[in-house]
Amino acid sequence: MGNSFTAYAASDGPGDLYLSNGGTDVFFDVLTLAGCQLAETPWQQNLVLLFADGHRYSRGFSGFDLGEIPWTGDWQAEQEFLLRVIDTALARHGWHRLRYDPPAAAGYLARYREMVAAFTPVPVDAPRWGDWRTAPAPSLLTRCPEHDLYEGEAGCRLCDPSIQPIGRQ
Ligand SMILES: [Zn+2]
Repeated sequence: MGNSFTAYAASDGPGDLYLSNGGTDVFFDVLTLAGCQLAETPWQQNLVLLFADGHRYSRGFSGFDLGEIPWTGDWQAEQEFLLRVIDTALARHGWHRLRYDPPAAAGYLARYREMVAAFTPVPVDAPRWGDWRTAPAPSLLTRCPEHDLYEGEAGCRLCDPSIQPIGRQ
């Protein structure tokens, strides 16, 4: 059981990223640690909330295609932001706050970076995930006092014992 992250519209990308459920938790943990540090605009905050709440309610069904992200006419800056989040995660931003050692995470991130870089976003008129230019509710952006991450809908993911067992890879 796991999750597929895809980039169907990428002309000549490296293919999909398939992660086990445990690997998916790690992937979203490290992206959330980086993203909460960087997000400033509503669009950026909405993207990081996708990671913060990722794989909390729909385990095994949390993969998505890059084309599902609500890209706007400002997609170049949006894509640059996503790449910056991935690069910051690759620099192990905040990994000391993890209760486990993620030896495989750099591999996931490097692969995902290639996929995002090969992908050309297309602005979405009626995005299924809503208009990310609208600021998220302030309560979603409340920070966990211990980990400094967004609480999101599901609460700080590093405080959630169901996805943070000690020793998990
Ligand atoms: Zn926390």
